[in-house]
Amino acid sequence: MTLVDWGKLPTDLFIGGVWRPAASGRRIDVVDPSTATVITSVADAGVEEAVAAVDAASAAAAAWAGTSPRQRAETLRRAFDLMTERREELAQLMSTENGKSLVDSRAEASYAAEFFRWYAEEAVRVRGEIAEAPAGTNSILVTYQPIGVAVLVTPWNFPAAMATRKIGPALAAGCTVVLKPATETPLTALALADLLTEAGVPAGVVNVVATSTPGPVVGAMLSDERVRMLSFTGSTEVGRVLLRQASDRVLKTAMELGGNAPFLVFDDADLEAALDGAMVAKMRNGGQACTAANRFYVQAGIHDAFVRGLTERMGRIVLGAGTDPDTQCGPLVNRASVEKADHLVRDAVARGASVTTGGEPPEEDGFFYPPTVLVDVPADAEILREEVFAPVAPVVRFEDPEEVLAAANDTIHGLVSYVFTGDVARGMRVAGRLESGMVGLNRGLVSDPAAPFGGVKQSGLGREGGHEGLLEFMEAKYVATSW
Ligand code: NAD
Repeated sequence: MTLVDWGKLPTDLFIGGVWRPAASGRRIDVVDPSTATVITSVADAGVEEAVAAVDAASAAAAAWAGTSPRQRAETLRRAFDLMTERREELAQLMSTENGKSLVDSRAEASYAAEFFRWYAEEAVRVRGEIAEAPAGTNSILVTYQPIGVAVLVTPWNFPAAMATRKIGPALAAGCTVVLKPATETPLTALALADLLTEAGVPAGVVNVVATSTPGPVVGAMLSDERVRMLSFTGSTEVGRVLLRQASDRVLKTAMELGGNAPFLVFDDADLEAALDGAMVAKMRNGGQACTAANRFYVQAGIHDAFVRGLTERMGRIVLGAGTDPDTQCGPLVNRASVEKADHLVRDAVARGASVTTGGEPPEEDGFFYPPTVLVDVPADAEILREEVFAPVAPVVRFEDPEEVLAAANDTIHGLVSYVFTGDVARGMRVAGRLESGMVGLNRGLVSDPAAPFGGVKQSGLGREGGHEGLLEFMEAKYVATSW
């Protein structure tokens, strides 16, 4: 039995509080990755609708910025309550359009809703400061103001959470937004627009435009003088393109980009805890997470036991359609992702790695790749450099802690790293030297709405979540004051 009412699901563009088709009449097919069949279609925005969405966000900006923090908090809190009530329906929707297992979708629906609750709580906790100028001549008064209209661009891998992680703080800050969801997963974003309207978000405060031509559509918004900020989550490659475009207008940007997370296991680690952590860090979302453990470095003394345990756990995972209740790992998002995983595994094997489980995509219509473990992966294998984005765990044996730190940091990325050790002092030392914005110490999951999520190096700029996430959508206003 399905909870999603497909007949009532919004599939048009949401601009200025009104659902409307694209002027061109064009629509985008939404595909179920479990079956490779079309589920439905959504309106396909062009530049005309992008400008209309900015018109709407701009027209609503002053009134929304003028609401009280308490009013914005209570609206977000209602959004949290509605999302919690509709968790199962949203989970089914995500499992259908993204393919992730219901376990993953339910977890995402809860995680996504938490951004509304957290920012409902943060909306009323923005503090400025007042200080005496060092010369003693006046006061330095600092307050925070909403930055204005923000364009939000999100990926397909967490269709709800990547949207609420931006909409929550933007609305709490007093900003209005245009959300451009990923072309592969527009339905969840449109369902969120509906839910936010029901929660009392006024017309024009949140606008949603799905498009098959993100370049021109996002480009038109970034070149619009009324837009003040771009908050992007996606690949480093697209992030670089958008940073270049944003530079034309010196636009404020927040960038959550790709990762290549190392997962370090030292000899003194608790084996079971390391395996539990490895399964979460690798298999959350079927390996399609920016935080996914991409490379496992395991010290010689614990290596063989770790590989045995990981092979056994990965080998018994049930692969299947996202909406099948027995499924533990769903399909990848599209055919190209399967081909990429297959290529990376074959490249590693050709260079000397061995497969201990998985390694062959099944012959099915959907976009499946099986949970796979590779051992003895040589340093020149492409899989150690590329973001895998599939349920594939390459394992490398190491002896020397200094060498493993150098290998872990030898990447342009720096989103998250994982360290497992029984010696917390060593763990803290290693965490301090890992070049990443986040570290999981004896933990395979770091994401938390209350914590500042983000990367260093080419994994991004800025932070989402925590109090930092709210300040990203605000600007400091300093008033030099003589009383
Ligand atoms: P992607 O970069 O291909 O697309 C992201 C978004 O950008 C989509 O909405 C897409 O339509 C849009 N886009 C694509 N080309 C564009 C262009 N030329 N101009 C404007 N917009 C454009 O990424 P993806 O495949 O959707 O997502 C996977 C990537 O996202 C991975 O690299 C992953 O690590 C990253 N990611 C990062 C985080 C994080 O918080 N750091 C979280 C989730 C995903």
